[in-house]
Parts: sequence; structure tokens; C-alpha cells
Amino acid sequence: MADIWIMRIGHRPERDKRVTTHVALAARALGAKGIYVDTEDLVLEENIRSVVSRFGGDYTIKTGVSWNQAIKNFNGKVVHLTMYGQRADEAVAKIPKDEDIMVIVGAEKVPAEVYQRADFNVSVGNQPHSEIAAMAIFLYEFTGGVHLYEDRGGEMTVIPNERGKTVVHKQE
Ligand code: SAM
Repeated sequence: MADIWIMRIGHRPERDKRVTTHVALAARALGAKGIYVDTEDLVLEENIRSVVSRFGGDYTIKTGVSWNQAIKNFNGKVVHLTMYGQRADEAVAKIPKDEDIMVIVGAEKVPAEVYQRADFNVSVGNQPHSEIAAMAIFLYEFTGGVHLYEDRGGEMTVIPNERGKTVVHKQE
């Protein structure tokens, strides 16, 4: 499967700290390669890198990157998540699986140019809700959830358990 990148636009460091962190972590859990965030936020970068260093994988984060910059050299399809878009179940069938995708998620009002530039404007239901929920449901539909239990080779690996917590710490 091709690579998945996330572009988070409209991030306000004070107000959106938790939501953007959860967008980044949910995208990582669902198999994305990395996230771009439009407003510079070094604390956010550090928090995500700390999770990656403990739990593994090669997920990247770069903040202070406008959506125009992020897609300028991007070779693949741009998917914009919006409640006004076409149905996700129908869109997923049309989005090529052999090309990378960049998924744009907003915070407050999204500029009209994003709708025009996107190859696919995709809704996850036509009700307004959350960028975390919309992105997670879209990525689950797009990937079939195949990355959720992948071994990321981290210092810490959580083993699924019916009860209690099983964590394996890698020996150096
Ligand atoms: N009111 C804003 C606008 O008009 O663009 C959207 C605000 S919403 C809280 C933040 C983001 O969540 C949106 O930009 C979109 O990416 C995502 N989102 C919210 N509801 C959605 C839905 N039903 N389908 C797809 N994405 C959705």
C-alpha cells in the first residue's frame, strides 16, 4: 500500500494542542507515515517524537509548513476531509491504492482553495463532528485497519491482553 501523509491546517497551538496531538497519534496508529502542521509548534513536535522514540516506527512530524508548501512537491492524490464532500465509502473505492495520499484535516474554517485543489473532497457522514473521528474513520476505511496491530519495533511493545497490561521492554 502507498504512503499516507496528513496535513493539519488551522492549528492554533494553545487551543488545539490536544486535538492536533490526537490527530497525529491516531494517524500514526492507523499507519500514516507522518504529519505536517501549518503553524510552528515545537512542543507538539517534541511530544509526538517522544511517543515515536518509545513505541517505534518512523513516523515524522514537521510543523510550520503551509498546505501549499506541503503539496507542492507531493506526488500523489490530495484527499480533503469535509462534511460537504462525497461519501467516504464511495470515495475510497475511487482513490488509487498505488499512489501516495495526503489527507487534509481542518480546525476552523478551511480556505476555499483547499476544496478546489483537492483531488477528492470526502465526508464521513454529513454531520459536523471531529477531525480526529473523521480522519480515523476515513483511514480505517481506506486501509482496512491493517496497520493497527503492526509491530513497530519500539523500545516498548504492548501485547494485546484480555485483562491487565502486558508491555514488553526491549533489552539493549
Ligand atoms: N466549520 C469548519 C469548516 O467549515 O470548514 C470545519 C470545522 S471541523 C470541527 C474541523 C475539521 O473536521 C474539518 O475541517 C474536517 O476536516 C473535519 N470534519 C468534521 N466533520 C466532518 C465530516 N462529517 N466529514 C469529514 N470531515 C469532517
